[in-house]
Amino acid sequence: MRIRFWGVRGTIPAPGPETAKYGGNTACLDILTSDEHVIIIDAGTGIRRLGQVLQRENPSRITGNILLSHTHWDHIQGLPFFKPLGSRRNRFELIGRRRIGNGLEDILAGQFLEPYLPFAYRSLRANLHVKEVDSGASLTIGGDTAVSVIDLNHPGGCLGFRVENNGVVLAYCSDTGHGADDFGEDVLGLVHDADLLIHDAFFSEPEQSKSFGEWGHSSWLEAAQLAKRANVHTLGLFHYAPESSDQDLESIRKKARTVFSRTILTREGMTVDLPIGPDLPD
Ligand SMILES: [Zn+2]
Ligand SMILES: [Zn+2]
Repeated sequence: MRIRFWGVRGTIPAPGPETAKYGGNTACLDILTSDEHVIIIDAGTGIRRLGQVLQRENPSRITGNILLSHTHWDHIQGLPFFKPLGSRRNRFELIGRRRIGNGLEDILAGQFLEPYLPFAYRSLRANLHVKEVDSGASLTIGGDTAVSVIDLNHPGGCLGFRVENNGVVLAYCSDTGHGADDFGEDVLGLVHDADLLIHDAFFSEPEQSKSFGEWGHSSWLEAAQLAKRANVHTLGLFHYAPESSDQDLESIRKKARTVFSRTILTREGMTVDLPIGPDLPD
């Protein structure tokens, strides 16, 4: 399983000299499975560049799945600018959380409306299929990939994903808060023994997880404690606050490694192959 990171930031893009090393685009990564299936997780602003690369890599046709953790802006804002959606030849299945009230497709189409954008969701030419899932769902993608889904603690809900392919496991827990270091059984079940756990590290100070508990985010401390408790192989910190500079992130990594030594900072442009060897990716 190959994972590429296209956006690792939370809330709002944060470009500029202070974030140049780890990147300013919001949440997006893509996975290439052992049977060459493309799975995209989240459609933050990083998906724009992924679109260009996928078009170069697959000049005739692109098919894939897009897993959406939730529909906060930083996870869907790049979707209108994901060029492969403009071609009739391409096919995507968009998978996201079922909500009470508006359906997922209506919510996504809502960000294409005038006066916010000059083109409508219905004008996208790609063959798009939207599938809503509930917490506890299990999906099969391609012939060889199992995805399990749970709901995480975040305002309005947010899906966590466990992607298992050819004997390796990626766990994705972007926006989520935890109570102290008491992680629920469902969270532990989702991330246990993962080769790579990608986890929210929005807060730079652990006290903020308590003082802003209703925001549904974590600091490096809960991420590292969870990785340790769930016997994860490597922890990738992710979804950094827009205010966190490259320097801040490197100091966060240092602190996180005192709790869980195999901690890395995910970075825009980084590629990670699972399983990860003894040397940590940089
Ligand atoms: Zn977010
Ligand atoms: Zn969110």
